[in-house]
Amino acid sequence: MSKVKVILFWLISCTWGAIMTSIGAVVALVLICTGHRPHRFHHLIYFEVGYGWGGVELGAFFVVSRGASLHTKKHEAGHAIQNIILGVFMPFVVCIPSAVRYWWREWVKHRGRGATLPPYDSIWFEGWASRLGEKYFN
Ligand SMILES: [Zn+2]
Repeated sequence: MSKVKVILFWLISCTWGAIMTSIGAVVALVLICTGHRPHRFHHLIYFEVGYGWGGVELGAFFVVSRGASLHTKKHEAGHAIQNIILGVFMPFVVCIPSAVRYWWREWVKHRGRGATLPPYDSIWFEGWASRLGEKYFN
């Protein structure tokens, strides 16, 4: 990504997309204070915490489990692009529904009915995040 695009990404992330980015900044601060090292994925900042869960995107920041796949990182970065498009609507249109769906899926799996679940990316906002990730973070 060119310098102009990086500047635009951060500018929009911190204005129109400020709701999620400010949550991300607070989480980043807490993680730094608890000894987690920030990493870079393209122009995003991310942290690795715990094992065996997916990831969560918070504006221009994201958090993934240790050893997360490149696909997961691209997917979370795709949500960051959604954040600069959807801005103030992002938490209500994507983040909250995505989190609720994630935990609902975990509950279904816990009950031994994981095989009945549709693919993770079958819902529009997850599929879209994966496509954006593949398109912009290669
Ligand atoms: Zn997602």
